[in-house]
Amino acid sequence: MSKVIAIDGPSGAGKSSVSRIVGKKLGFLHVDSGALYRIMTWQCLEEGVDTSDPEAVAAFADRVRIECRPEDGEIRYYVKGELPGDRIRTPRINAHASAVATVKAVRDRVTALLRGMTQYGDLVVEGRDITTAVFPDAPARFYLTASAEARAARRQKEEVEKGIANQSAEAVKASLLARDKIDSTRKHAPLKKADGAIEIDSTELTLDQVVETVLGSLNF
Ligand code: C5P
Repeated sequence: MSKVIAIDGPSGAGKSSVSRIVGKKLGFLHVDSGALYRIMTWQCLEEGVDTSDPEAVAAFADRVRIECRPEDGEIRYYVKGELPGDRIRTPRINAHASAVATVKAVRDRVTALLRGMTQYGDLVVEGRDITTAVFPDAPARFYLTASAEARAARRQKEEVEKGIANQSAEAVKASLLARDKIDSTRKHAPLKKADGAIEIDSTELTLDQVVETVLGSLNF
């Protein structure tokens, strides 16, 4: 039976960086569940599916072909034989992803893919509903958060450094808060701190300190 470390939290709380380092240190595969919702969104937009129409999105959910492969310490997702790369990190995808993620057929599809990944080994899985819905019995569950300002500043820096976009911090914060609202109020698997999950507020912490807190809380 493979072990799962589950990390949830809002956008920009540092889940990806922390999960990647923790995975590397422990030899666990890093799983970015948000990327799967982003791929579903990207494919909807590519195929002209109206992301504000839940029925249209649900009808399309099973038609997206995603191949999951464990490579270089993470699970990589291939769509039609290609890695999506930064095509799923644009402001346009950000604006549509939370609506697509409210659709139950999409969530069921992504949840099944995530659960199937335990066949590849021990995992560090990050997202919004990993501790509550996907792997609620994981032996290690964390809720990582930070102030909206700190989260927006991190996301904006990342977008500029990667050459994805050049938005103001205010625009990034507004987009992030809009997604937080949809993610935490939706009907199916909303973002919330799970009972028993360890909460870490990273606003005043360095990445190393968050990683140490996670590693220090593990009892396996
Ligand atoms: O983590 P990331 O920002 O890449 O996630 C993109 C979107 O995917 C989130 O805003 C959220 O709507 C959705 N998501 C989700 N459940 C997850 C991971 C992401 O609903 N486990």
